[in-house]
Amino acid sequence: MSSQNPVFIPGPTNIPEAIRKACDMPTIDHRSPAFARLFNPAVAGVRRVIGMDQGEVIILPSTGTGGWEAAISNTLSPGDTVLAARFGMFSHRWIDMCQRHGLRVQVIETPWGQGAPLGAIEAALRADTEGTIKAVLATHNETATGVKSDIGGIRSAMDAAGHGAMLFVDGVSSIGSMPFDMAGWGVDIAVAGSQKGFMLPAGLAILGVSPKAIAAMDSATLPRTFFDFRDMLRSYAAGGYPYTPAVGLISGLAHAIEMLEDEGLDAVYARHHRIAEGVRRAIAAWGLTPCATTPDLYSDTVTAVVVPEGCNGTDLVKLAADKYGVAFGVGLGEVAGKVFRVGHLGMLTDVMMLSGLATAEMCMADLGWPVRLGSGVAAAQDYYRGAPAQVARAAA
Ligand SMILES: *Cc1c(COP(=O)(O)O)cnc(C)c1O
Repeated sequence: MSSQNPVFIPGPTNIPEAIRKACDMPTIDHRSPAFARLFNPAVAGVRRVIGMDQGEVIILPSTGTGGWEAAISNTLSPGDTVLAARFGMFSHRWIDMCQRHGLRVQVIETPWGQGAPLGAIEAALRADTEGTIKAVLATHNETATGVKSDIGGIRSAMDAAGHGAMLFVDGVSSIGSMPFDMAGWGVDIAVAGSQKGFMLPAGLAILGVSPKAIAAMDSATLPRTFFDFRDMLRSYAAGGYPYTPAVGLISGLAHAIEMLEDEGLDAVYARHHRIAEGVRRAIAAWGLTPCATTPDLYSDTVTAVVVPEGCNGTDLVKLAADKYGVAFGVGLGEVAGKVFRVGHLGMLTDVMMLSGLATAEMCMADLGWPVRLGSGVAAAQDYYRGAPAQVARAAA
């Protein structure tokens, strides 16, 4: 794999040079005021990026998966019921984690390629007259299928049902790249990771926690130690951590947020939308379709491309890596082989994306798939030339 080419996987994403430098720092005493000077701007920045108005930010040395575990183990007790739709590998894994923690999961099976089913969620909540469902789990951006779900719509469904469950949202592959409105959507826990929209190496789980979720931790009896919010919040109040924080990554996080806000969050979201739309135009020109079944579900951070009959998406990913030194994502779970995934989030420009599309075309031609070289690239070029916000002041 070339270290010069960008990656087109949906995380970890390309790391801007300035962020690499921000992570590279000498050791500091994490119990000294120097740490708080690094940490506080990172926390304040996370609040803005996820749209929090109250509650707490928790930053754990972990990954997104650890963020899920922290969310459930701090707020729930064995035998509690949670409601979740399964429509991809990531929604599946969160459900699996809940089951392994001894939670009852009321699963709404949903075809892969679709999003969180608002009607079925509302119906399940209405039917729960005893209020046994303690939390609704939602994957904002299902990275396996490239499907974005309507989190505001889930909040409306919960309100319409008059149900008091908490709302936990996996925003690992959306936060920092697509609009996220924790306060407006009434999200109780939002989970992000450092290696996607924040353009950092893996190593941080980043959570926004509402006052309601914080209150739930007092009665929650699932075991937790490393992820215990109570220890974290006590230590935060004293300007530190209950253990050694990932200081370099936290420094990088503060810098990443500075870069995002320098570009402007709205401009960042517009850039992601524009790059994604170019990818979709290319796919259409190839005569292929995204796995996401309708345009309202299209993700602006990852597209799962359904491959032609008789072709295997994993072959393309392997060839791209071996022959051209370029990384795309393989299909996972139910759609293994049936799709390949193009990650288009983080530090990316129109021009970088064109190189990815050109590489995908070369691979398809090499594999004998029915594609005309240049067709998808030309469709994307046409779109990028005419699309608004041309000055791609990318995070580079
Ligand atoms: C990447 C991802 C995760 C897992 O995060 P890790 O950092 O790999 O633990 C969870 N959910 C979604 C939607 C993701 O894209």
